[in-house]
Amino acid sequence: MTQASDPRHDAPSPLSSDELASLRRELEKERDELLEHAHVVDDDENASSATHGQGETEHTANEIERRVNAVLEANADHALHEIVAALARTDDGTYGYCETCAQPIMRERLLAIPAARFCVNCQQNGAARR
Ligand SMILES: [Zn+2]
Repeated sequence: MTQASDPRHDAPSPLSSDELASLRRELEKERDELLEHAHVVDDDENASSATHGQGETEHTANEIERRVNAVLEANADHALHEIVAALARTDDGTYGYCETCAQPIMRERLLAIPAARFCVNCQQNGAARR
């Protein structure tokens, strides 16, 4: 009768693959939106705007990576940084674990903040120090 739904229990609650997939989609969407709104001085602006008319949906992986890097170079603290890092973690299987204490991050927290990289405890400790 004692389910581990009590947050104080802090039981590992791994994300289902469905949840992981939908969080990943959300992160990709956020990334794309940030890229849309990012203003980056881009040497290749002329080249890319030439094809912009027809190929709106043609976002190749290389193109995305190039734009991500350009944005990150321009703004090291950009929110995009968190999102790209989170996406990388979904690739290498460390997504959903706190970077500081390596404990699983609560599902509710990830669903609310898909790019979260710390558990609540570490986040609070870190935030208190700054
Ligand atoms: Zn932690």
